[in-house]
Amino acid sequence: MSMMSDAGAGEAAEAIVTKALRVLREYPLCDNCLGRMFALLGRGMTNAERGKALKTLIVMELHRRIRGGDNEAKILLRELAPRLRPVVDTLYRELFGEEPGAEECYICGRGLDALIDTAAREAVEKLMRSNVSSFLVAARIPPDMRSREDEIKTSLGLQYGENIGAEVKREVSKRIQQTLGLRPDFEHPDVLVEVDLASWSVRAQYLPLLIAGRYWKLARRVSQSIWVTRDWERRYPFSVEDGLALLSELLDGRDTILHGAGREDADVRMLGTGRPFIVEVKEAKRRTIKIHTMDIALNRHAYGLVEYKLASRARRSDVASVKGVDSRHSKIYKALVVVDKPVSEEGLSELERFFTRRSIKQRTPRRVRHRRPDIVRERIVFSVKTRRLGEKVFEALINAEGGLYIKELVSGDDGDTEPSFASVLGVRAYCAELDVVAVIDGERL
Ligand SMILES: [Zn+2]
Repeated sequence: MSMMSDAGAGEAAEAIVTKALRVLREYPLCDNCLGRMFALLGRGMTNAERGKALKTLIVMELHRRIRGGDNEAKILLRELAPRLRPVVDTLYRELFGEEPGAEECYICGRGLDALIDTAAREAVEKLMRSNVSSFLVAARIPPDMRSREDEIKTSLGLQYGENIGAEVKREVSKRIQQTLGLRPDFEHPDVLVEVDLASWSVRAQYLPLLIAGRYWKLARRVSQSIWVTRDWERRYPFSVEDGLALLSELLDGRDTILHGAGREDADVRMLGTGRPFIVEVKEAKRRTIKIHTMDIALNRHAYGLVEYKLASRARRSDVASVKGVDSRHSKIYKALVVVDKPVSEEGLSELERFFTRRSIKQRTPRRVRHRRPDIVRERIVFSVKTRRLGEKVFEALINAEGGLYIKELVSGDDGDTEPSFASVLGVRAYCAELDVVAVIDGERL
């Protein structure tokens, strides 16, 4: 392999300058838009620097020819001067005794460098007031701007260019990174900075912050989500979601949404293992608060009603898997059962034997049929353990598949749940108190 000769290198350089000159003869372009046509050539410089270098070389080359007495070069310089500013200014004044005119960039219209600067400054100003650690810049390019750029590339056969969106994204990102020390994140940014090239406006869109955790509901008459009646009255004074709303304040967000792994009724406590959930804080602008700090604030706020344990940041895809927990997981409930006729120890032993891996057919309970789809579901009761507390009262630990309504497993819901404690014992049965004591992966703890 032979080294490229000086002459060869000269030719290559000339080829690029010739090409750039051809571009400028056809189209007025700002430094950035000209440089971008050759973006893949040379490293470690911006398109603005590329464009300026090319314009400088063109001016130098035309000046060389003019000095050699080439009158055509002088005419060309005069004609192209508005497209070669500001590097041509001094020479132009010297040659023609006046200021060159001005021309707008064919692609961006105004001079991309200044526009990028303005957009970056606006973005920095917006992000400065927030407390985020990562970002992503998106650019909205008007179709006519895109087609003008493509037109130049195709008509002049330019193959080393990139597109205007890529340049805007990179340059605005670079300035945000340098000024605020934030990290670009292409997968899960805290904030999306949208630069709209049609209006040259900047919008900062804070993405929801998701945190996974578990909750324990220590009191009855606490619903999982905020429950408002048709008359816009609160059904219960406090909910698990109410407690989490504090995160909106802490993280300077707009709203909080609770995604629970299933739910229990408002009068049912959630004890033992707690119930997994993901809390979503919309438009969180203060995102560097430690999870431990949030935990302390939440638990102080909901003291005696709900206990929270936040674990880690979660991703959007985790929401579906937490919500799906209901179908995969089983639960252990503790029910206080009251019956209308005395039940013996033997009766309870028989109940335990019967409800061992027993399949239950359950129609949507009457009490929720007005707000849930009316279907017949089939769920497994894995086991039942009982403790007799009196002639007509006993406690039952029920290990069942998620999604089974336990109050109706006890009462039978007038035959809509079959079999039930009531039908097996031959009594009327009522679930007076219910707690969830475990939400577990699989059948058993
Ligand atoms: Zn331009």
